[in-house]
Amino acid sequence: MDVKYTTKGPKGKTCADCQFFESTGDGMGKCFGHEVLAAGSCNMFKAGKK
Ligand code: SF4
Repeated sequence: MDVKYTTKGPKGKTCADCQFFESTGDGMGKCFGHEVLAAGSCNMFKAGKK
């Protein structure tokens, strides 16, 4: 499945709200080993941050 990543996620559905997001600070984080923006989002979004 293609991951459709966007650097600007909709409110409440950003990487920062996602289970797979691990914050590394400065608005950045890791998702499956990739560097992503906390404000980004993608179609793999899963609610329920750890
Ligand atoms: S799965 Fe998508 S929404 Fe969730 S942290 Fe990774 S890139 Fe962001």
